[in-house]
Amino acid sequence: MRVLTTIAEVRASVQAYRRQGLSITLVPTMGYLHEGHLALVKRAGNIAERTIVSIFVNPTQFGEESDLETYPKDPERDLALLQPLGVDGVFMPSANEIYGTDNSTIVDVTALSSILQGTVRPGHFQGVATVVAKLLNIVQPDTAIFGEKDYQQLTLIKRMVADLNMTTQIVGHPTVRDTDGMALSSRNVRLTPEDRRAATILFQALQAGKQAAEAGDAVETMHQIVTDTIRQQARATIRSIDIRDAETLSPVVGHPNKPVVILLSVQFGEVLLIDQMIV
Ligand code: AMP
Repeated sequence: MRVLTTIAEVRASVQAYRRQGLSITLVPTMGYLHEGHLALVKRAGNIAERTIVSIFVNPTQFGEESDLETYPKDPERDLALLQPLGVDGVFMPSANEIYGTDNSTIVDVTALSSILQGTVRPGHFQGVATVVAKLLNIVQPDTAIFGEKDYQQLTLIKRMVADLNMTTQIVGHPTVRDTDGMALSSRNVRLTPEDRRAATILFQALQAGKQAAEAGDAVETMHQIVTDTIRQQARATIRSIDIRDAETLSPVVGHPNKPVVILLSVQFGEVLLIDQMIV
């Protein structure tokens, strides 16, 4: 496993793989890896002959500097977790390597960046789209794997790749959960023990929504059931609950005839958690 810090090193590795006719997949992350990330890396091993994992805490997707500064980091542990998984290269660039000093291009997937999470995190999805476009251009992988947990991000990246005629195929991977149903996230370590226990309400609410969908309820009823479930937990502050078309994220009313996605954004103490389920 090679640790790569410059774009030139990545390009040299990729060129060597290409000369041997090997397929390449990219798993972009912000580090502080957990089993959710590792599931994406294991999936990568099944779909391509060479796996590159990127670890880059992208400053342009953070609204508040404090959130960026407190984002957990442990690069040595990350490398130790990746080593046994057959990863070929780990790209760990500096912010300067990615953005230089005069970067002035921003990628904005306009229809998807300003809705849902985009309304509460202005600039976030422009930061995500820009860094993912850069990573895809640097590595030029055949496939890139993203978690369904960040569902709006996954949808937006698929749209960007289609709109910009990029050749990488985007693969979505189901959300990996703890035994109590809690979606694994690097942010979970910032929850107090009480909030961590309370936060299992998110999975319970998603399951209640799924049951309602399976019983043939309208989205308005599903929304009410999900909301009522989360309101039972006094530690939870609901930021948003949305039920949208799972492919386009456009609003849905009445009885859906296509898959929908339930999107939750709920605050516990200082920590904003998101979760989703396709039903
Ligand atoms: P992050 O480091 O938070 O940017 O996440 C890197 C990638 O891992 C993104 O594509 C996330 O959607 C994905 N990811 C994070 N948590 C999970 C999880 N619990 N299950 C599946 N994928 C995840």
